[in-house]
Amino acid sequence: MTNEELWKAVLTEMELSLSRANFTTWFKGTSLLANNSNSVLVSVPNGFVKEWLENKFGRQILQTIRSLRPEIREVKYTIGGIRVGLAMQKKDFAQFVPEKTNEDKSDADIDKLTNLNKRYTFGSFVVGSNNELAYAASLAITKNLGKVYNPLFIYGGVGLGKTHLLQAVGNQAISTDQNKKVCYISSERLTADIVESLKNKTIEEMKQRYAKLDLLIIDDIQFIAGKERTQDIFFATFNELYGKNRQIVLSSDRPPSAIPALEERLRSRFEGGMIADIGIPDYETRLAILNMKCKEKNFEVDQNSLAYIASNIQKNIRELEGALNRIIAFSQIYTKTPDFKEVKKLLAAYLNTPYRKTTHQSIMRSVADFYGVPPNDLIKRSRKKEIVRPRQIAMFLLREETKSSFPEIGSKLGGRDHSTVIHAYEKIKKEEENDETTKQELTLIKERIYQTFEN
Ligand code: ADP
Ligand code: MG
Repeated sequence: MTNEELWKAVLTEMELSLSRANFTTWFKGTSLLANNSNSVLVSVPNGFVKEWLENKFGRQILQTIRSLRPEIREVKYTIGGIRVGLAMQKKDFAQFVPEKTNEDKSDADIDKLTNLNKRYTFGSFVVGSNNELAYAASLAITKNLGKVYNPLFIYGGVGLGKTHLLQAVGNQAISTDQNKKVCYISSERLTADIVESLKNKTIEEMKQRYAKLDLLIIDDIQFIAGKERTQDIFFATFNELYGKNRQIVLSSDRPPSAIPALEERLRSRFEGGMIADIGIPDYETRLAILNMKCKEKNFEVDQNSLAYIASNIQKNIRELEGALNRIIAFSQIYTKTPDFKEVKKLLAAYLNTPYRKTTHQSIMRSVADFYGVPPNDLIKRSRKKEIVRPRQIAMFLLREETKSSFPEIGSKLGGRDHSTVIHAYEKIKKEEENDETTKQELTLIKERIYQTFEN
């Protein structure tokens, strides 16, 4: 196994357990310089990162490395690829130029003009009952930009294929007609660009640039919630493009009606076209996706192993892929494909997600944040509809995630009777089992809870 492959396995692991921002902050520009029989040397960009990797992620990094190379006892970090006091065999240092990390590599696949990644196409997108409407609508608009559904709004939980589908629309539009002007951008990038343009007084130029587009794709639009200036400028751009029949495609983690602090005029624009959701894929679709990824990566493994992954990882396709990558990393190190028993062993650590700890404050904050209500209102006596449901969700999550007793939860939520809490818990529990929307909301809130805790 090359250093690059070993480090890639670590990055894959870390990426799964961290928020994207966190992952980028701490792992961008890192690489594995050398590894000998019992230690490895990791290059980091600066002292700040070095300290964090050593203190905060050191154990997890070592564990991951050891799950692949049990003989490794130690991980050392060095700034900018300069060797510091690590006794290693000479040959291990033969290649001293820092290797490209995962991230640099995927950057290279991204077109500078459109921000599109060629990897994401309709051809590599597996269609199942969870995404067939979103898929059909996406494909339909590429045949006649701006004329079929405008805007197209796609929503669904994390890791379910929104970005893939949005990018496929862009790639398809260009492959059909090279002259089409396409731009893919995340709403966070867009907001940053707007702020920058306002500062440099180049906002008019920016608007003009956008006005020339045939297809504007904005990913994760929910993040413009509460950003008034961005919403203003976006509204103007939206109208301009829409008026000229130019295609707009948006994605979000939830439907427009559920994005708090989104101006009414934008909400009604978003709802004016086609809204399609992506849900959690069923077993057959998960298996088909795994087979597709194997084909893409030119990797062969027995169907039993794939079936095992598909039946154990259900809610997030990115994680499904992560598990497969882990198997691939194993094959590269040992230059053999793991058999079923080894696959089970490899994934054991992965499936028993480490015990995650949270606090009741973090839960309350995340719930309030998700529904766009003040945290204090969850505690107050209000019976307003907008508050009652978030409060019930908070009760449910407090029970599930902290295992607090019902009376304890009642007292944390403004001295409510424990029977109220039990009622809320049972109601949401039932919804979680039977209602797709509630299930997804809970997943999203939990993601927030554990991110807040990390940060
Ligand atoms: P989201 O934007 O919804 O968080 P992504 O589009 O980033 O999710 O998808 C996460 C990963 O899962 C990507 O690597 C993507 O290629 C893959 N993926 C998701 N859905 C499918 C699908 N239906 N077919 C093939 N790959 C998929
Ligand atoms: Mg995405």
